[in-house]
Amino acid sequence: VPLVIAMDGPSGSGKSSASKGVARALGLRYLDTGAMYRAMTWWMLQNEVPVQDQAAVAASAGKPVLESGTDPDNPTITVDGADVSAPIRTREVTNAVSAVSAVPEVRARMVALQREIIGTGGIVVEGRDIGTVVMPEAPVKVYLTASEAARAARRAGDLTADPGATVTVTQAEQARRDRLDSTRKASPLTKAPDAHEIDSTELNLGEVIEAVVRLAKE
Ligand code: C5P
Repeated sequence: VPLVIAMDGPSGSGKSSASKGVARALGLRYLDTGAMYRAMTWWMLQNEVPVQDQAAVAASAGKPVLESGTDPDNPTITVDGADVSAPIRTREVTNAVSAVSAVPEVRARMVALQREIIGTGGIVVEGRDIGTVVMPEAPVKVYLTASEAARAARRAGDLTADPGATVTVTQAEQARRDRLDSTRKASPLTKAPDAHEIDSTELNLGEVIEAVVRLAKE
């Protein structure tokens, strides 16, 4: 079985920093599947597809051409050739992404693309359904969690450019997103039975990376 490290968990659990750190430490590639759902959502908003309309989203799910770079030091994402790494992080996209990612046609396309990128392995893949759906046979599966307050503080730190994004607002938006992501019908966020749960509330980044690297070396 090729080395694939599946890193799943709710928003703000520290998945991105930890996943990139693990990839660097082990010389692996890195794939941010959340960025792919965000890029799809950005395209839908850009093309005025009503994101709450499942049929409309499904009908357009095949249209945007997405490309993800897998260098942990320079993760890139393009839509139809344009770099969208900044616009996919806006609050507008963040608040629309759960509706888009709940559409089965979107998920089917994303999962196929992700499996293609994973290929023969040697990669750390972060998301919500990597250990459950995309790569259930991954030899290392981590489910990263943190207290709700710690997660909101991390997210607010990511969004300092947006004056509306106070910790309170961010916490409410994040709670809503996690609720939608964990209650949707298509591949809801859930811990794979064989995933190792790591609670990062009381750990610093280096400690989380170390814990995952240890699992990978077992
Ligand atoms: O990880 P990030 O917060 O950037 O993910 C954005 C959104 O993409 C999630 O809230 C979720 O709706 C969706 N997502 C998903 N499955 C994944 C990764 C992300 O449904 N594997």
